[in-house]
Amino acid sequence: MSTSLAAERLAAIPVQVQGADRPGCLPKLAGWLEGFFVAQRERLFWVHLAFFLAFLALIFLPLLLPEPPEEAGIFDHFTRFANFALWGLWFPLVFLSVLFSGRSWCGLMCPMGAAAEWANRKGPQRPIPAWMRWEGTPILSFLLITLLGQTLGVRDHPEAIAEIFGGTLLIAILVGFFYGRAKRAWCRHLCPIGLLLGVFSRLGAVQFAPKKPKPGSDRWTEKTPCPTMIDLPRKRASRHCIQCFRCVHPEKRGGLFLQLRRPGEEIERIQDHHPNAYEVWFLFLGTGIALGGFLWLALPSYWDLREWAANWFFDQGWFWVGEPGPAWLMSVHPDRREVFTWLDFFSISGFMLGWMLGLTALLASTTALSAWLAGRFAQDGLRWKERFVGLGYQYAPVAMVSLVLGLGAALFQPLADWHPELPALVKTLFFLAGLFWSLWLGDRILRQQGLRGVQRFLPALPGMLGSLAVGFAWWPGIFGV
Ligand code: SF4
Ligand code: SF4
Repeated sequence: MSTSLAAERLAAIPVQVQGADRPGCLPKLAGWLEGFFVAQRERLFWVHLAFFLAFLALIFLPLLLPEPPEEAGIFDHFTRFANFALWGLWFPLVFLSVLFSGRSWCGLMCPMGAAAEWANRKGPQRPIPAWMRWEGTPILSFLLITLLGQTLGVRDHPEAIAEIFGGTLLIAILVGFFYGRAKRAWCRHLCPIGLLLGVFSRLGAVQFAPKKPKPGSDRWTEKTPCPTMIDLPRKRASRHCIQCFRCVHPEKRGGLFLQLRRPGEEIERIQDHHPNAYEVWFLFLGTGIALGGFLWLALPSYWDLREWAANWFFDQGWFWVGEPGPAWLMSVHPDRREVFTWLDFFSISGFMLGWMLGLTALLASTTALSAWLAGRFAQDGLRWKERFVGLGYQYAPVAMVSLVLGLGAALFQPLADWHPELPALVKTLFFLAGLFWSLWLGDRILRQQGLRGVQRFLPALPGMLGSLAVGFAWWPGIFGV
C-alpha cells in the first residue's frame, strides 16, 4: 500500500480533540487559541474596519501631501512612514507570520479580503466563472502585478503604491460584489499574493483539520460554509485556508479544529497533503520573476541588455522606444529625476521574464532529475509526475526567505542603530536558515517517497543544486554585488 493511501485510511478515523488528546504539538495552547478566536469571531469586523481605514490612509494620504525633503526620516514625514509601513513592516511581517500562524493575516486582518466579502453580501452573487476557477489564474495575477510593480517603481513612488494597492482593492471589491455566494472568490482565485501565502502556509505551524475526515482528493465546492470553497471533510492542505475560524465549533462533534505542528511538517509529508502541480510551477515562476525584479537593479548585465535592445530597436527605425510611456504603466516622475521610456519598460520586463524562464528551467530540470533518480531506488509505486510535484516543494523555504529579505530589507535597517553590521549579519543568518531548511526538506520528501538511508544521497543532489542556485542568485539582490 502506498504511503499516501495508508495515510488517507488512517486520516478517515474521527479525531478526539478534547484537552491533551488534541493531536499535534502543545495541545493545551492549541485549545486555548481556538477558544479565544472563536469567542472573538464576531468582533473581527472591528479589526477589519480598523485595518481598512489604516490601509486607505497609507495608500492615498501621501498623494495629498507635499513632497518629503530628501533627508526626511520615517517619523518626519507621513509619506516616508507609509512607505516604511508597507515595505518595511507589512510585507516582511506578513510573510514571516505565515511560518508561525499560517494565513492568519488573511482571515483575521486583511482589509482587502474583508472588503471583498462585505461587498459580496450586497451583490448579485453570481456563480464563479470557469476562467476564474482555473488554477493558473492566481499565477498570472502574481506575475502581472510583480511586473507592473517594477515598471511603476512601487517601492519608491506613492502614486505607484496608490495604483497597485488601490487598483487591486477596487478589483477585489468588484469581484466580491459580483461573484460567489457568501464566498471570497477574490481570495481563492485572483489575489496576487494569495497563492504565495498559500504555498508558504504549508510551512506554517498552524493547520485546521477535520474532526471527521473523509478520504478523497482536495475538491473545490461552493456547497460549504468555507469562504474559500474548501471541501471541509477532505481538507488536508493548508494552502486555501485563510483561518477565518468559521468552520470551528469546539462544542460540536463535527467541523474542523485548530492543530499546532512543527513548521515544515506538511511539506515533509507532502504526499499526504494534496500536493498540486500548479503550486510547484508557481513556486518556480514566481521565484524567478521576483528575482529578476531585484537583479535588474543590482546587476550590470541589465545595462548590457538595455544597450543591446536600444541598438536593435534603433536598427529597426523604432525611435519611439526612446519616448516616455503612460504614467499608469511605467514610472514617469520628472520632478524626482526618474522617467522611464518604452525602452526601459521592455528592458525591465524582458529581463524579469528572462530570469523567470531561466530559473524555472533550472528548477524544473533539477527536480525532474531528482524525481527520476528517486524512481530508480524506491519501491512505493509513485509515478514520476507525483515525485516531481512532491520534490518541487523543497524550494519553498529558500524562496520565501529570499523574498522576505529582498523585498522587506527595510525591516532590518533599524538594527544598524545598535551596530552597523547587524542588519547584514541577521540577513545572512536568515538566508542560511532558509537554505538549510530547503536541503532538509528535500531529504524528508525523498524519505516519504520510500528511499532509505544512502539511497537518498544521489536523488538529493540535484535538489541541493537547485536550492543553492536559488540562494546564490538572490545574493546580489539582498546583499549587493
Ligand atoms: S488572499 Fe489576498 S486579499 Fe484575500 S485575505 Fe489574503 S492577502 Fe487579503
Ligand atoms: S477551512 Fe475553516 S478556517 Fe479555513 S478558510 Fe475554510 S472555513 Fe475558514
